[in-house]
Amino acid sequence: ALTAGIVGLPNVGKSTLFNAITQAGAEAANYPFATIDPNVGIVEVPDDRLDKLTELVKPKKTIPTAFEFTDIAGIVKGASKGEGLGNQFLSHIRQVDAICQVVRCFQDDNITHVSGKIDPIDDIEIINLELILADLETVNKRIQRVEKLARQKDKEALAEQEMLVKVKDGLEEEKPVRALEFSDEQWKVVKGLHLLTSKPTLYVANVSEEEITDPDANENVQKVKEYAAKENAEVIVICAKIEEEISELEQEEKEMFLDDLGIAESGLDQLIKASYSLLGLATYFTAGEQEVRAWTFRKGIKAPQAAGIIHTDFEKGFIRAETVSYDDLVEAGAMAQAREKGRVRLEGKEYFVKDGDVIHFRFNV
Ligand code: GDP
Repeated sequence: ALTAGIVGLPNVGKSTLFNAITQAGAEAANYPFATIDPNVGIVEVPDDRLDKLTELVKPKKTIPTAFEFTDIAGIVKGASKGEGLGNQFLSHIRQVDAICQVVRCFQDDNITHVSGKIDPIDDIEIINLELILADLETVNKRIQRVEKLARQKDKEALAEQEMLVKVKDGLEEEKPVRALEFSDEQWKVVKGLHLLTSKPTLYVANVSEEEITDPDANENVQKVKEYAAKENAEVIVICAKIEEEISELEQEEKEMFLDDLGIAESGLDQLIKASYSLLGLATYFTAGEQEVRAWTFRKGIKAPQAAGIIHTDFEKGFIRAETVSYDDLVEAGAMAQAREKGRVRLEGKEYFVKDGDVIHFRFNV
């Protein structure tokens, strides 16, 4: 499964957020194949559509889809030179598919800040610079390797060399690879390098309990937003402490608590949704009397592959996918009506599954 790594300097609220994630945790029984690793927290993906489908279909059971966060502790200044848990940190970050960088925006004189002052941009740049330096090392090694072939006028090597030099120039200007521009062709090769700064990234601005109701009054949040806008990155504002407190509450209590604060959606729920789409993930549904269930797929896959997410036999014996969009189904009010109205499509092997599709797979066993 794809996972988003939580990174940040010490004392910014990572563990607090990760606690909230594991306490809110998904019901393990529903996800027996999920990773068992103390650094991985599995959460259910909040989705109003699933509640609506449950209302319509009235199944015995409803199962949301899940998402994994990985806690990556240990970055300090100098990590790329092996300071702190440097190398270990970098190898952990290499294994995640996206990065959620927690940035401290709350003031609390009792909690020391590693640099002695709260300066979110400084913090972001410390981390980004370590990742950039690590990438530079990777790229330089690679350049040395292709140089010989490039000198022999090997076409592929020449193209790669050109791309690598472009990456190197960008990194030397302290630009993350995700902010550089490439042709589709080049991007495929760049991705193959698994560079740390090529991973999709979002920022998590951690504010205090008092500020969560009006986070824009916090000038640190403003700064993070301005910084993120320059690289087209999203910012999620949370109060990790509140998330930790409410993570053990039942849904109803949680909603009441947030209502009192005047918050429509918890920061953690926003973070889950944002991370999910950052990774290019989307959801389709199955809806039967036994069970209404959400399934995660990677955007761009076709119907048989999507069927394979449920069971490999579904993919092997795939015949067709009876598909209705969530909106059409809700408008029709029930599956039978949707069928009468001709809204249920018979899709074949070449169909690209869409977010919100409600699907019944037909397959040979
Ligand atoms: P980490 O080193 O990044 O994992 O940071 P921790 O999660 O351990 O948090 C460091 C300290 O900051 C702890 O004492 C937390 O209680 C505190 N802290 C974390 N989030 C918040 C927050 O949203 N508001 C306040 N006031 N304190 C927080």
